[in-house]
Amino acid sequence: MTDAVRSDWTIDEVQALFELPLLDLIRRAGQVHQEFHDTEVVQVNQLLSIKTGACPEDCGYCSQSVHNDTGVKPEPLMVVDEVVRTAKRAKAKGVTRFCMGAAWRDVKDNAQFDRVLDMVRQVNDLGLEVCATLGMLTADQARRLDEAGLYAYNHNLDTSPEYYDSVITTRTYQERLDTIDNLRTTNITVCCGGIIGMGESVADRISFLQRLATLDPHPESVPINVLSRVPGTPLQDADDVEIHETVRMIAAARMLMPTSVVRIAAGRHLMSFADQALCFLAGANSIFSSERNMMLTATTPCADHASDRAMLATMGLRPRVLASSDR
Ligand code: SAM
Ligand code: SF4
Repeated sequence: MTDAVRSDWTIDEVQALFELPLLDLIRRAGQVHQEFHDTEVVQVNQLLSIKTGACPEDCGYCSQSVHNDTGVKPEPLMVVDEVVRTAKRAKAKGVTRFCMGAAWRDVKDNAQFDRVLDMVRQVNDLGLEVCATLGMLTADQARRLDEAGLYAYNHNLDTSPEYYDSVITTRTYQERLDTIDNLRTTNITVCCGGIIGMGESVADRISFLQRLATLDPHPESVPINVLSRVPGTPLQDADDVEIHETVRMIAAARMLMPTSVVRIAAGRHLMSFADQALCFLAGANSIFSSERNMMLTATTPCADHASDRAMLATMGLRPRVLASSDR
């Protein structure tokens, strides 16, 4: 069914996926999904903002950038015990990947990073897949996170190289790719995806997916976000994204990166039961869930554990459980 797992996809090949009739693409992606994954299993992740706001980067979508007047109240780096308590509650709710996000441009070799390393160690000791997203990293910092037991690092490319500086100007696409290269010098898995609905063209979406699918190896996790329009950001008035656009992105990601976990990330709270069912049929097999209806900050809403558990059960899907061998 598939051309196996490839990292030499061309723009034309990705374009061809975007030209397929939607239901044909969903059927093909569903077959690839069946070939590489247990289609009944969905990984449930929880994201915690361990350091909120006051970020010096100017990401046009982000509630935490100092450049955007979003009303998000900056909060200092959390204490370790509170993070571990949150992770324990998440685990009790069936979460198997716990993601810690810090609104930093990059990591500094200081006491705050030492504290984050301690968080990683203690969350890892709970038997969870511990993930972090801290901005740009050096190879040495990646090595230290690896030694602390970090399972995954999120570092999104977000959009195409061509459109990137329309969204973010305080860093370059290459700087993001450099961090991914630094991560690849360790055993840490890479979580790398992006956002649709930021005013990008279909050609940008094709170029973005082609960049992702030509990373070798592919990111082990690929979050597909739909822009959460945050008041006070340059993208606050962006156009709606239709569910057929989201499903096409997910199906194309599935076809291009068969072994990766494809996550329906931000924007899922606006999707109906049927919308989400289409996303799972198209090959999505991971979601973010929450205990307080928000992903990172109150400006990026997220469905809660109880409603997600009920939805998955109704669909005949089940949350992934971590076999002891997985950790
Ligand atoms: N500060 C880290 C960084 O920039 O890599 C992590 C930021 S956040 C936890 C991770 C990702 O969430 C971002 O890279 C972006 O793709 C996505 N995101 C953030 N705000 C969003 C929004 N308003 N709508 C959709 N996706 C968003
Ligand atoms: Fe900062 Fe990350 Fe938000 Fe960009 S996405 S402004 S780097 S917290």
